[in-house]
Amino acid sequence: MKTIGLLGGMSWESTVGYYRAINEGIKDSLGGLHSAKIVLYSVDFDPIEKLQHDGDWDGTAKILSDAALSVQAAGADFLLICTNTMHKVVPHIEKAVHIPVLHIADATAEVLVNNGVKKVGLLGTAFTMEHDFYKGRLNRKYGLDVLVPHTEDRKIVHDIIYQELCLGRITADSKAEYLRIIESLANEGAEAVILGCTEIGMLVNQSDTGVTLYDTTAIHAEKAVAYAIFQEQ
Ligand code: GLU
Repeated sequence: MKTIGLLGGMSWESTVGYYRAINEGIKDSLGGLHSAKIVLYSVDFDPIEKLQHDGDWDGTAKILSDAALSVQAAGADFLLICTNTMHKVVPHIEKAVHIPVLHIADATAEVLVNNGVKKVGLLGTAFTMEHDFYKGRLNRKYGLDVLVPHTEDRKIVHDIIYQELCLGRITADSKAEYLRIIESLANEGAEAVILGCTEIGMLVNQSDTGVTLYDTTAIHAEKAVAYAIFQEQ
């Protein structure tokens, strides 16, 4: 079994979900007392969030590349960056380390394509919903047609992530807002909706809606389990 490297803490609330999902996945696959071999580097999110909102992506890339080097030095065979948003700086991180980085958008797109989805809604931070690094990758590499909420709803989705979910706050009002926005993406033609932020699964899940949801935390964790167990190298 390979050792899984996790770059977490963005936010730590969602990293808890990764840790649990990966260990559950290894247990389900291997049985007995098997558990995942994990090297976790959990960053302090506050300075990273400030750099993001100041547009200093190079600053975030430096912090994450240094952290990734520590994960590699500690013996990880491959790396997961436990946030959709910070995949914006994945090219910098890939330059810094020699271990493979399993991209969260690729893992998600592979499942969508296998399931025959062509037009998909995307919820995440404003960076994920608006910048090209995520939507563009889904579209150019996998031919997916990606719908995002309109401006006001994007702000609602973004603010709930940073002001509530990353702090572990779950409220009925925010859940209702997310479900309304998911429904409106489906009404505009989305065949499914990507929960493209690793905290959203704390607020809504498949039992809350008839619209098919793709939770990036669960998909990314599942990909890591398969890679740790089955990937030959
Ligand atoms: N965890 C979030 C994501 O998946 C947002 C926090 C961050 O900005 O990294 O995008």
